[in-house]
Amino acid sequence: MKFANLLLDQRRMVALVDASTERYWSIASLIPGFDGDMVRLVQDFPMFKERLAPKDAGQPLAQARILAPIDQPRRNLFCVGKNYHEHAAEFQRSGFDSSSLHGEHAPEAPVVFTKPGTAIIGPGERIARHAGVTSQLDYEAELGVVIGKAGKGISRQHAMEHVFGYTVINDVTARDLQKRHRQWFLGKSLDGFCPMGPHLVTADEIDGGHLDIKTWVNGELRQNSNTSRFIFDIPSMIETLSAGIELHPGDVLATGTPAGVGIGFAPPRFLQSGDVVRIEIEGIGVLENEVGE
Ligand code: ZN
Repeated sequence: MKFANLLLDQRRMVALVDASTERYWSIASLIPGFDGDMVRLVQDFPMFKERLAPKDAGQPLAQARILAPIDQPRRNLFCVGKNYHEHAAEFQRSGFDSSSLHGEHAPEAPVVFTKPGTAIIGPGERIARHAGVTSQLDYEAELGVVIGKAGKGISRQHAMEHVFGYTVINDVTARDLQKRHRQWFLGKSLDGFCPMGPHLVTADEIDGGHLDIKTWVNGELRQNSNTSRFIFDIPSMIETLSAGIELHPGDVLATGTPAGVGIGFAPPRFLQSGDVVRIEIEGIGVLENEVGE
C-alpha cells in the first residue's frame, strides 16, 4: 500500500493512494472516526489494515497538495552517514570529513547522527538557501525507513518485522558547517533541510535492500546507485540503534547517501538558488525541490 499526507482546502488528511498514484481515499473515509496523523496510522495499522479496502473510485490526487508523509515526527530522525563505499571514499577525498580516522575508507560501525523534525519540508517546497549561514549547500538522496512495530534490542533476524515502510529523503547539508563544527547536527538541521516524500510505501511492496536510487540536479544525473550497496544494511542499522534506544512506530531512519554529492566533484558543485534537485527511488516515487532565494 501507498500512503500520503495531503492538504486540501486548508484541511490536512492522511490518505491511501492507488498504485498508479492518481486516486486517493482519506483514511477517515475508510476507517470512520480516524482523525490521527501518519504516525498514528503507522501505529494503529495492524488493527485496521484489513479495513483499508476502498469501495468507490476515490478522489483525484492531483486536486490535493502532497505534504511530507511524516511531517510531525515525535522525535528527531535517525540518520546514518557514510553508508555507501563510493560515497565514504569521495567524502574522505573531499577534505570535508572531520569525522574520518586517518586513512579510513569505510567506518567500522555506523556513523549515527540526527536531524530535527523541524527541518522537514514536503515535495515541491523550496529548500531554504540560508545564504547568510552557508555557502556550501549540498544534496544527499537517501532511502527513508519508517519503523512500524516498537522494539528494543532488536536482532538482525527480526529487524525487518519492525519496518513499516519506505519513503524518499533529501538529507540537505551545509558542508562548511558540517566541517567547521565537527559534530554534524548543525550542518544537517537548518530549517528546510529535510525534504521528504512523496509517499510512504509499505514494506510488503518493495525490498528496501534492492532499490535503485538516483538524483538529478537541473536535469543532470549526479547520483545513480542501488540500496544493495549499503555498507550497513537495514537490519544492522536497526540492530545498532535499538540496542540501547527503544524504537517507536513512526520513527524515521535516513540510511545514507550514495556517491555523487556536490563535494564528490573537483571542484565541488554546491547548490545555488534556482537549482532543482530531483530524487527518485524505485517503487516509491520522485521527490523534487527547488533551492529558494
Ligand atoms: Zn546523509
